[in-house]
Amino acid sequence: MYNYRQNIGPSQSGHSRLSGTTSPAQIRKAQQTNSASETQPLFIQNASSSLTQKNERASYFIDKETANEIAEMRSPISTPNAKKYQGVDRVNKELRHIASAVFTAAKSSGLNMVEVQCSVLDGTLHISSNFHSDKIIQSLQESLNKDYRAEEKSYRPADFNDWEDVYDSREHRHATKLNDFVDSDSRMKSIVRNMRREIRQDVGVPHNTNLNNEEIASQAVNMLKDIRAALVKLKDGDSSSIMIHAPLKSSADEKTRETTHAEQNIQEYIATQGQQALQSVRKNHGIEDTSNVIVPMAGRFVACATCNEVEHVAKSSERGFFNPESNQAVLHRATSRVGRAFPGERQYIAHNTLSSDSHEAISRAKDIAHQFALGKSGNLSSHHKELVTPYSFDTDSDSDPEDKKPRRPANS
Ligand SMILES: [Zn+2]
Repeated sequence: MYNYRQNIGPSQSGHSRLSGTTSPAQIRKAQQTNSASETQPLFIQNASSSLTQKNERASYFIDKETANEIAEMRSPISTPNAKKYQGVDRVNKELRHIASAVFTAAKSSGLNMVEVQCSVLDGTLHISSNFHSDKIIQSLQESLNKDYRAEEKSYRPADFNDWEDVYDSREHRHATKLNDFVDSDSRMKSIVRNMRREIRQDVGVPHNTNLNNEEIASQAVNMLKDIRAALVKLKDGDSSSIMIHAPLKSSADEKTRETTHAEQNIQEYIATQGQQALQSVRKNHGIEDTSNVIVPMAGRFVACATCNEVEHVAKSSERGFFNPESNQAVLHRATSRVGRAFPGERQYIAHNTLSSDSHEAISRAKDIAHQFALGKSGNLSSHHKELVTPYSFDTDSDSDPEDKKPRRPANS
């Protein structure tokens, strides 16, 4: 089992730090302690000591040329039409908005997190980024307290194939909508009402679970409530319902650039330390021991080719943590699209979702890293998946009337 170290609050400012193997009970205790301060989130820092042991972690590095070669083996497509985020996908949509808001606020402070991904499990909002994860809470809090409506910015791009145009309008739109989600009770009620109706009609429902639609709706509504409650608290300075996951190792420096990607950081935690959360969510929400627990995941981008491969193996292999037949957690993304492989960074693979057997998990991670390092994508699950050439953002939503430039509410 992989060891974690916890760091409550930024270490530079001298906050207490626990080290060594951390039990779920210790995490809960730290969370409670943390809650008392009402200012610092629980910050999960993976143990770097494991990286010093040779062969402990699989990793790879590819240059731009190799990344392009891998990408060119896939079928290129232009940007798809806006899609509907319906049913459980509405949970993913809110998580995307959080990722955008965090990224945007960090960017305005001169930091490039590259990617931010989010999940929610048993009352805790999980957030990670490829880089600068220690600034996530501060960035999100800033975003929640900013009046985006006062800014005269474009809410929709004029050209969906223009990266800059898409980029700018999306950041502004997502941050505004996230603040609406937090501030407006009526918007929350409307989302829940629509989500229940859609799930009842079997729309936006994951079909790889052993749950009926009523059970799926119940889990999805609880996720939305948990996300909103965590954000409402954070807006007032209480980050006790948010858990930040640092990469296994992270350097944004050009020469020594290395990381594990955001979604893998969260998944690694859930696979190794999340058993208590899975049991707790079952107990708190009346989910039977044999029933799946849905774990949503979303970020600014669709999963890159590497993260997709990790998720594919975790979902489809025997002993994989997200294999629904294990009656454990079922990973839910609102898209099946897959982005490119990232060049120019040493990328470590978080292997603990790949198998409950640690030797097998490491072996599977090495196999994934090997395929990318060689630039031979033929055995990868993304090989036959189309690649949107302009960018890897998830497509926009066309499901809400709020997608249009919202009017300023009468009470603000
Ligand atoms: Zn990735």
